[in-house]
Amino acid sequence: MGETIFAKIIRKEIPAQVVFESETVLAFKDINPQAPVHVLIIPKINDIESAREISSVKDSQLLGEMFDAANSVAKQLGIFESGFRLVLNSGLDSGQEVPHIHIHLLGGRKMNWPPG
Ligand code: AMP
Repeated sequence: MGETIFAKIIRKEIPAQVVFESETVLAFKDINPQAPVHVLIIPKINDIESAREISSVKDSQLLGEMFDAANSVAKQLGIFESGFRLVLNSGLDSGQEVPHIHIHLLGGRKMNWPPG
């Protein structure tokens, strides 16, 4: 897997508005927000391109920690009670741009369904 912009954010080589950080997970505000709250939750390891590479055998712990982070950030930013959407774009048809797995946490407004 090639180097992505997220790898540079993890190494603090380019700035990001970090809202949560642990040994394994980083969460920061999306640079092009699609809702009043739009945060990206990523693993600090660089070798998972998308949800398609996830398997319960090797990734259960990491996935649990990413969802813990999403819930924690949702509480921190005041959208836990009102609700929110978690999105994992995976591959070409989804519109995924950055090949480093990330959960979009979106909230602070009413979401539409179906998504675009
Ligand atoms: P996706 O289309 O699912 O791959 O989402 C990638 C997201 O990364 C988009 O919502 C971008 O706005 C966001 N993004 C790209 N570069 C940066 C950056 N330097 N800091 C924060 N978010 C970024």
